Amino acid sequence: MHDTILQSIGRTPLVRLRRVSEGLSPIIAAKIESGNPGGSIKDRVAVAMVADAERRGWLRPGGTIIEATAGNTGVGLAMVAAVKGYRCLFVLPDKMSSEKISLLKAYGAEVVITPTNVPPDSPESYNGVADRLSREIPGAWRPNQFTNLSNPEAHYLSTGPEIWEQSDGKVTVLVGGVGTGGTLSGVGKYLKERNPDVKVVGADPEGSVLSGGTPASWKVEGIGEDFVPKTFDSRYVDDWVRVSDAESFHTARETARREGILVGGSCGTALAAGLRYARRLTPNDYMVIICPDTGRNYLSKMYDDAWLASNKLLWLPDVPHTVGDLLK
Ligand code: PMP
Repeated sequence: MHDTILQSIGRTPLVRLRRVSEGLSPIIAAKIESGNPGGSIKDRVAVAMVADAERRGWLRPGGTIIEATAGNTGVGLAMVAAVKGYRCLFVLPDKMSSEKISLLKAYGAEVVITPTNVPPDSPESYNGVADRLSREIPGAWRPNQFTNLSNPEAHYLSTGPEIWEQSDGKVTVLVGGVGTGGTLSGVGKYLKERNPDVKVVGADPEGSVLSGGTPASWKVEGIGEDFVPKTFDSRYVDDWVRVSDAESFHTARETARREGILVGGSCGTALAAGLRYARRLTPNDYMVIICPDTGRNYLSKMYDDAWLASNKLLWLPDVPHTVGDLLK
């Protein structure tokens, strides 16, 4: 029996992908992070950042966690705050979906909404308001996942060793997306320490600057950046594969239909990158693809044909079987 739900974070399954990888030589497996209690890989980071802040005395009993995120890290932090009795406050721009706000509130977090139509450096912006609240509320602490080095360290200490053990030390290629970069930097460092020949492949949305592309907008959530976060150490990435929104979403949907694994959009990006990269590998290779969250978060988006159509993402000429499936 676990003492609290937090002890059930990690030890997620590594699952072989057989059908989507048909015709490819290496073993290809997915690390299914939706198995974490808060639903994503970010639970690992939330619990580690809070523990670090407690050790350093930045967060004390009765303290308040303040962050400007509605994403998976927010859910992880809200879950940790609920267990440990901290107040938790999220500052979000008014464009956030009502489901995401409800999810945070369901864990007892408070949500402050700020206007979207203000410059990012304005005191009215969500970051500006989060800064002001953390100055004004006594005992407030801001985790800041983009600069907090407990983020990559959480993956160095948990996700990395799990992948090494679950693959019996056979992993040769790691594939994943980069949001804060915590996952790839932490897991990449660990695996390369165990075997310097392990290759780390970054899966980047078209439009993100991380892989050196021309800046543009993209629809996949949680990965790609228009800046290089402090928590991302690019020395651990050997190659980049750039993936369009259409290919990411169609690959995620194919994985749900062919493997029975309902994955999120960023996992679609990683899977598409991995399957493309695998064409140059041999039967001695063993690829692990990180799947950060579940497709349940995106049922009204990428899993909805009308949404895909209205975003002009329904057609994918270079993967004919997905087009056939969608037009049935
Ligand atoms: N996918 C999703 C859905 C995420 O929420 C995140 C976290 N931003 C990532 C991928 C990327 O993980 P990391 O921040 O460790 O680079």
